[in-house]
Amino acid sequence: MIPMLKANAYGLGVREVVSALEPSDPWAYGVATVEEGLEMRALGVERPVVVFSPAPRGSIGSAVEAELSLSVGDLETMRLLADTADRAGRVARVHLEVDTGMGRSGVPWAIGASWLHEFRTAAGDSVRWVGMYTHLHSAETDPASVRTQLDRFSTWTRALGSEERSTVLCHTLNSAGILRSPERAGDAVRPGIFLYGGGSAPDLPGPRPVVSLRARVVHVRDAGPGSTVGYGATHRAEGNERWATLAIGYGDGFPRALGNSGRALIQGTPVPIVGRVSMDVTVVNITGVDGVGVGDVATLIGRDGAAEITLDEVADHAGTISYEILTGFSSRLPRVWEWADGG
Ligand SMILES: *Cc1c(COP(=O)(O)O)cnc(C)c1O
Repeated sequence: MIPMLKANAYGLGVREVVSALEPSDPWAYGVATVEEGLEMRALGVERPVVVFSPAPRGSIGSAVEAELSLSVGDLETMRLLADTADRAGRVARVHLEVDTGMGRSGVPWAIGASWLHEFRTAAGDSVRWVGMYTHLHSAETDPASVRTQLDRFSTWTRALGSEERSTVLCHTLNSAGILRSPERAGDAVRPGIFLYGGGSAPDLPGPRPVVSLRARVVHVRDAGPGSTVGYGATHRAEGNERWATLAIGYGDGFPRALGNSGRALIQGTPVPIVGRVSMDVTVVNITGVDGVGVGDVATLIGRDGAAEITLDEVADHAGTISYEILTGFSSRLPRVWEWADGG
């Protein structure tokens, strides 16, 4: 298992996610940047940390120093890495990225696995080749594309020598890939969004919810006919309405796209968002919901009594994906952790 903790563990907080995952003894953690890898080391993580995005040349030295594993997909980077490690008197660890269709980075699979000969030569003695991987582009929606990409990748795994086959960890599957093709898990899998409660597709099993998003009511008012709310005055009370102002806005990462279209739960009752979402506040129409007062807690994602708003529903509504909702939560939004032992 190589849990993916990039982007501050999908916005949730890398420190707490590491604490939660350490007891499961993962083989390694995955991050995107060298800086994220250094942060893991600063947190005291000693197991392997793999940096999956191509590292800018200027950060290769500090990656080697911190014993981060780097993803490499070209000979030039490999030579630079070997040279850097050599001069530091260290051995660098690399995962070779094979591009089977994502097209962002990695060695294109179609050039043929005989290229591995040059790769081995460029590695020399100061680089240890510890992994080989590819990344799926459409496991959420297109099972045939998963088969195509995995078949392309296996033309490369078959080219490994028998010694290499036991030392080079081959890994391919993200969350959706794991759910689509568990029988092709290879040596390790790289779950991301599933760990954080985001679903992959309606036809795939969903994870248990992980994240709730809540905000306090900071103001309640009666709004007579014709009253308007928010920037652009985009909602006008038809009759006598009652509005509650919630202390959350797009400055916290609550999507502005939910203005006049999203909903919240108050006292277990769904209530619509009225007007635009502002930077700091969002207003909901609580007409007909009795007893709502300042200090009450509204739920924007999660459960309140029998009612629930899922992360994926919010993402859908906002015209995006759960990943962007989670990583969009700003530093102003406090993260409150509840541990399974009740702490
Ligand atoms: C982000 C990432 C993953 C995890 O993807 P999910 O869809 O969140 O499971 C796996 N592998 C790589 C290389 C990634 O960058």
